[in-house]
Amino acid sequence: MKLAVLPGDGIGKEIVAQAVKVLEVLKREGAAIEMEYGNIGGAGYDAEGDPLPDTTLKLSKQADAVLLGAVGGPQYDKLDRPLRPERGLLRIRKELNLFANLRPALLYPELAGASSLKPEVVSGLDIMIVRELTGDVYFGQPRGIEIRNGERVGFNTMIYSESEVRRVAHVAFGIAMKRGKKLCSVEKANVLECSELWRDVVAEVAKDYLEVELSSLYVDNAAMQLVKNPKQFDVIVTGNIFGDILSDQASMLSGSIGMLPSASLDANNKGMYEPIHGSAPDIAGKDIANPLATILSVAMMYRYTFADMATADRIENAVKKVIARGFRTGDIWTEGTTRVSCSGMGDEVVAAL
Ligand code: NAD
Repeated sequence: MKLAVLPGDGIGKEIVAQAVKVLEVLKREGAAIEMEYGNIGGAGYDAEGDPLPDTTLKLSKQADAVLLGAVGGPQYDKLDRPLRPERGLLRIRKELNLFANLRPALLYPELAGASSLKPEVVSGLDIMIVRELTGDVYFGQPRGIEIRNGERVGFNTMIYSESEVRRVAHVAFGIAMKRGKKLCSVEKANVLECSELWRDVVAEVAKDYLEVELSSLYVDNAAMQLVKNPKQFDVIVTGNIFGDILSDQASMLSGSIGMLPSASLDANNKGMYEPIHGSAPDIAGKDIANPLATILSVAMMYRYTFADMATADRIENAVKKVIARGFRTGDIWTEGTTRVSCSGMGDEVVAAL
């Protein structure tokens, strides 16, 4: 298993180092993992003048999976747009054709107090949002701002082809099969033709997965249901723009941004795995960041790219154990629990493994 490791900027290096500790344990036990490091984001710009250097792209294309920390930092904010760290991230997603973005929203019972919703509404929450990542109104043509009838108009095109919907629907049904066998497709078919097609194609794909119970919700209702009764959901599949908004909303149900991993997959389950948070420049270099989202991203890598469910479960269980034992980084610390550093948390996960 070839792994491209791209720590990136800010806390990226600190949190990726903890995930690598976990991989080193598995390696010592005999797992055939080869890790090679590359630069991305501001680190790519500093070392090679490009937020996605050719060497990094080549390394990532040749790897079975990519483990990414985070990119960005205030020192890069004045660079020309194509040289900014975030452009490197968008480019690697596009170059690797990572069209399916998987974001679990999972709440450990011990952390229910950290959520902005009542503990009984969110305790035990376990949702997977599958967001289409390379199409929709974010990429549709034509787009622009121009003068019409003497005033400026801005316009974008919401567009999905059948094949784009079909491939992400297959990913979502496949995931539902491995979980609670419930899939909710979210669109706005009462108003948008693009959504009408989305709903039809998802219903066609459903015929291949008769065990999965399929439902549909309009996006406005889905947003409401996510805060009213989030535990009704198992897997949600939706387009790029609706998924962008709903996955951020769902991630906050679980309280801390430092706990949530993500996966972005191509058609062959090659994937890029990263925490959902950014490079947190405010706490970088202090060894206080929460590395659990990155460690849980490694678990997702085992589940989705390496199809090794036992190792994925083992890593996730180690994290659960560390939480149950009361170890907390600053972002999730509460009275009566034991505060640990970023590297201390990595050590606890290794011990629990
Ligand atoms: P951020 O996610 O980096 O930080 C938001 C807040 O959450 C900060 O207070 C930070 O300290 C805290 N936080 C984030 N991760 C944490 C962790 N693991 N443990 C403890 N606390 C954590 O978002 P931001 O501040 O809006 O952006 C900072 C930089 O990151 C910007 O340059 C932005 O463009 C970039 N960014 C990158 C990604 C990515 O690489 N995928 C995503 C979002 C933002």
